[in-house]
Amino acid sequence: MFSKSSTSAIESASWKKGEQVPYAALCQTFELIEDTTKRLQILDYLVKFLISVIHLSPESLLTVIYLSINKLCPEYEGLELGIGESLLMKAIAESTGREMKKIKADYAELGDLGIIAMNSRSNQPTMFKPKPLTIPHVFKTLKDIASLSGNSSQKQKVDKIKLMLVSCRNKEAKYLMRSLEGKLRIGLAERTVVVALAQAIVLSRPDIKKLSKEKLQLELEDAASVVKSVYSELPCYDLIVPALLKGDIAGLKENCKLTPGIPLKPMLAHPTKALTDILDRFENIAFTCEYKYDGERAQIHKLDDGSMRIYSRNSENMSTKYPDVMERLEKVPRLDMFAACMLRIFIMIISADCVPPSTLLTLQFAKLDTKSFVLDCEAVAWDRAQKCILPFQVLSTRKRKEVKEEDIKVQVCIFAFDLLYLNGESLLREPLARRRELLTEHFNEVDGEFAFAKSMNSTQIEDIQTFLDQSVADNCEGLMVKTLNGTEATYEPSKRSRNWLKVKKDYLAGVGDSIDLVVIGAYVGRGKRTGVYGGYLLACYDPDREEYQSICKIGTGFSEHDLEEHHKELKEHVIAEPKSYYVLGEGNKPDVWFAPVRVWEIKCADLSVSPVYKAAVGIVDSTKGISLRFPRFIRVRDDKTPENATSSEQIADMYNDQKLNTVKNDTTLGVD
Ligand code: ATP
Repeated sequence: MFSKSSTSAIESASWKKGEQVPYAALCQTFELIEDTTKRLQILDYLVKFLISVIHLSPESLLTVIYLSINKLCPEYEGLELGIGESLLMKAIAESTGREMKKIKADYAELGDLGIIAMNSRSNQPTMFKPKPLTIPHVFKTLKDIASLSGNSSQKQKVDKIKLMLVSCRNKEAKYLMRSLEGKLRIGLAERTVVVALAQAIVLSRPDIKKLSKEKLQLELEDAASVVKSVYSELPCYDLIVPALLKGDIAGLKENCKLTPGIPLKPMLAHPTKALTDILDRFENIAFTCEYKYDGERAQIHKLDDGSMRIYSRNSENMSTKYPDVMERLEKVPRLDMFAACMLRIFIMIISADCVPPSTLLTLQFAKLDTKSFVLDCEAVAWDRAQKCILPFQVLSTRKRKEVKEEDIKVQVCIFAFDLLYLNGESLLREPLARRRELLTEHFNEVDGEFAFAKSMNSTQIEDIQTFLDQSVADNCEGLMVKTLNGTEATYEPSKRSRNWLKVKKDYLAGVGDSIDLVVIGAYVGRGKRTGVYGGYLLACYDPDREEYQSICKIGTGFSEHDLEEHHKELKEHVIAEPKSYYVLGEGNKPDVWFAPVRVWEIKCADLSVSPVYKAAVGIVDSTKGISLRFPRFIRVRDDKTPENATSSEQIADMYNDQKLNTVKNDTTLGVD
């Protein structure tokens, strides 16, 4: 069955071996995907297309993958699409000869520039037929557009978009516009693309016909899990796709491993509601408690060439935000190669017989020399005079980019909680106890600059409570509780794992975990809030459907300064109409709409099912969504993109957990 489908994929391909993949072929696949909501069907369409690419034009596989996830390069390179709608409307108007007024009216009605561009195209008489668009050409042009900056860049961008638009046929303009806007909205999640890539590689093998159906199924599942795991460790298709094309899935694990200079997806923690949950979860399992520092996650890389990089939770290169940290990192390795050798030789000469072997071992150069590493840390604002941690709000006043050392007012201390790579070896599959051992062995604490996360290993609830209180008194958010030994204590990139539990002080007060939401609209302020926005409409994100679903209105938790700052920033992102991928309830009618650019951390009293909001619609209830009661603004989350906001699935989980706890509490009351 599978081999037949792979043959038909090639037969139905609209281009010949060695030719460049027509953009139309990708758009046809997008169209098929957009027309269905069935996950397996979506996967099947993409797998078939990828098989054709692998057989006929393998050199285009990488660009096809990028276009399918609507990216241009690995995230850490920071090149992004997301062209503003006014520029896109201008390009449509100029390339079709239609009036801007009409395009704006269409946009108000349809909310989708892709459809408008497609419909506008078909109105356009053509004197001669331009050459069909190809994948390499479209990808290169998109990259060129994203790279343009400076004074005349707007005009250059419009010109390039116009040139592509006039070459578009059928539905191409629709997908091209959406790519330029930064959202394809065909219901193709990146995780589906990764699975499709793995399956297409397996199904393209010449020996595939010989496998039984059962064996093939196993191979497909195995391949998907290998590629997913490799991608979370090395999120770089530039390396993974060529490796897959050259070798097989089995070879991928060998050839594509965690590499300094390429930020891996961080391991994430599960929230807990009570200290007793920790004991329930870790019954008979060794665990450790660490301070949960309240700053910004910082993944620090030292590359083989000696250079350093600092990456955010979001894989953004933050090296220019922390020049002070970059400079002091050079001091962190305990001993340089020369010093280590000298010390060892010295000790061997003077006391070879009387020095215990363990002492000699710790002085061995292989252990002491940190040629390359990856550290998982939290950068925290630090008061040098008082020698104490400052709240996150202080850190957030630091400039985000191109910081000059002499201008730095807020000092930071780096708290390292994990070592993921050391001297050419990935430590991801080592247990935390071992990683921690290597961390303390190979790094030195430097007062107020670099420290190890404070930890405590008792399993007594009283000790955990005392440690939690101490962490809060030390200006931390609470605790991180982690498994220590065995296979349950490995580092799981990109996973929200139950092997890491987070206990925030507020959970225990019954307020619940904070939620990170996208600002999609605002209400004009009145009275004291005249001149700024008085309240906002927020949404969570559904990554499978690529939708923002409304979740609540918010008006509390803002200082006057916050209100002014939000107004100043967000008024630049006002859009005429809600995006077609905003899922809204009938009553969600703010005075202005925003493009999805900002993520805010919010706390609330609890979650409830609501006919007015649409968060997690279809998960807990078929038509109603979930809403937040008494939401309160906490802070801006600069380190999260809108796609990193709390997902609909997480919202549904929180709602269900809360219901479960209510039942538990009710039962307890009943017993009492
Ligand atoms: P999530 O990452 O779970 O979506 P989030 O980004 O809002 O949520 P938190 O819920 O605050 O983060 O918890 C995880 C974060 O805590 C980590 O991403 C890291 O930045 C921070 N952190 C502070 N101390 C530690 C520690 N000792 N171990 C691991 N993470 C820590």
